[in-house]
Amino acid sequence: MASHPDRTSRSSVEERYKVLLETGRILTATLSAEELYAAIHRETAKVLSASNFTVSLYDQGRDLERVVYRVQGGEPRTVDLGFRGSDSRVIRTNEGVLVEDDADGLASLTRIEGGAKVCRSGIAAPLIHHGRVVGTVSACSERPKAYTEEDLALLQGIAGIAAIAIDNALQFSELERRRREAERIEEIGRALSTERDPNEVLGRVVQAVLDVLHVDGAAVWQRHGIEGRQGRITESGGEIKIPVGAPWDLHEDLEEALIHERRAAVVDDIEVSQLIPDHLREFLQAGSGLAVPIIVDEEVVGALTAGSRRPRHFGPEETAVMQRLARQASVALENARLHESLRALSLTDPLTGIANRRRLQLHLEQEVAAARRGRRLSVVVFDIDNFKTVNDTLGHLVGDQILQAFGELLMEENRTMNLVGRYGGDEFVSVLSDSGMDGARLYLDRVQSTVEQDPALAEHQVSVSMGVAEFDREEMRSVADLLQAADMDMYRAKAERRSASQTASR
Ligand code: GH3
Ligand code: MG
Repeated sequence: MASHPDRTSRSSVEERYKVLLETGRILTATLSAEELYAAIHRETAKVLSASNFTVSLYDQGRDLERVVYRVQGGEPRTVDLGFRGSDSRVIRTNEGVLVEDDADGLASLTRIEGGAKVCRSGIAAPLIHHGRVVGTVSACSERPKAYTEEDLALLQGIAGIAAIAIDNALQFSELERRRREAERIEEIGRALSTERDPNEVLGRVVQAVLDVLHVDGAAVWQRHGIEGRQGRITESGGEIKIPVGAPWDLHEDLEEALIHERRAAVVDDIEVSQLIPDHLREFLQAGSGLAVPIIVDEEVVGALTAGSRRPRHFGPEETAVMQRLARQASVALENARLHESLRALSLTDPLTGIANRRRLQLHLEQEVAAARRGRRLSVVVFDIDNFKTVNDTLGHLVGDQILQAFGELLMEENRTMNLVGRYGGDEFVSVLSDSGMDGARLYLDRVQSTVEQDPALAEHQVSVSMGVAEFDREEMRSVADLLQAADMDMYRAKAERRSASQTASR
């Protein structure tokens, strides 16, 4: 609304009363905070002229006053300014202030910064709700003595009604925000619970911090081992980004908080804080930060951190959200570790689905023990010929498919008494219980002809060299002795095959 320099003094008591009533009516019907600020301005401007009009909110816990709405020369401006609340006279005294002619005094009253024409007079009133200051409303003018005590009383009247409406709107949007936040966190938790790769877990948590907290940067600090305060950044995201790999040895106060007391640590103002090492300052520039410990298996393994360009950005709520996210990361990391250790204990080869080396070893130990007591035992080993060349020329994926096809073929050829497994790489083993050399050779021949007829293997001209050995109670002591004998036989076969193919190609 355009300003009318002379109107202020002329607006009648009746007019003012109407404005107050109207303000009350409009404000109680408005639920969005943004609309409220605009409505407060609109109603105020009907009776008070102002070259600058601002609404700010005050967070007592953080002593942070934030300008949330400003109209300058009739135009709304988006602003995001934070100040120490106790620097403001209105907040300190809980009372309205009238400045008749003092540009300096006004600077702290209405938060005018460079570019704007200097105000000479102004009024400001506290937004008081349940006896607490929740913010301020202020107006100022380029003219000296533009406002009277009555104007201040009117602004205070408006502020009184506005405080209730603003508080309602904020409560409402706060509830909405928390609901969305809770939903998002739960969603993240679900996604993390199925993630097996620890690095992936941490990357997702960093993303979640950026999403949920709307901060300018997030990172994971990982401790070197589980002792001391040395570590480095292993994940990082957002606009303020500490490079991954950057070393960061914690200040002893941070060590005390994060590692010993296992609690969150807040840095309200990075610029003046001793807690941030100099080499990280260039990335963080200024603002504030928050770190919470990541605990896995009862040990602090690192910290989840967030950074904001704004000083004093992090309060108890942000901390609580970060702690929830860090706990989810911890659970996911524990799962991933468990999965890893279960995999180490696993007895199945993940690629082919048949027994792995560990299972073969356990089985062979039992079989060798029985063979020492007189039961017969043979093994056949298989090694794919020129498998490296297959990988190199056809790619690893085709290589994998060949390994799978061969594993399947072995399974089909096997009798229930026997066990086939992948010993490693392109090497497979069949354990033939209660079987001597003759039976083993018959089995070998059968597999050989199946390999030659298998369409998947034939397509890529895959051949397999095979060797057999029977457990010899006089000569052999262990599983290794038996496998070595079979290997020797296989290498002999491979050499024969090679010289045969060379002869053929000559
Ligand atoms: P040789 O005829 O003497 O047996 O020669 P080769 O090329 O088969 O040599 P070797 O048996 O030493 O090579 C085995 C190759 O198998 C080496 C490795 O890259 C490949 N390999 C091992 N594990 C896998 C796997 O899981 N998938 C694929 N695609 N390749 C594998
Ligand atoms: Mg091979």
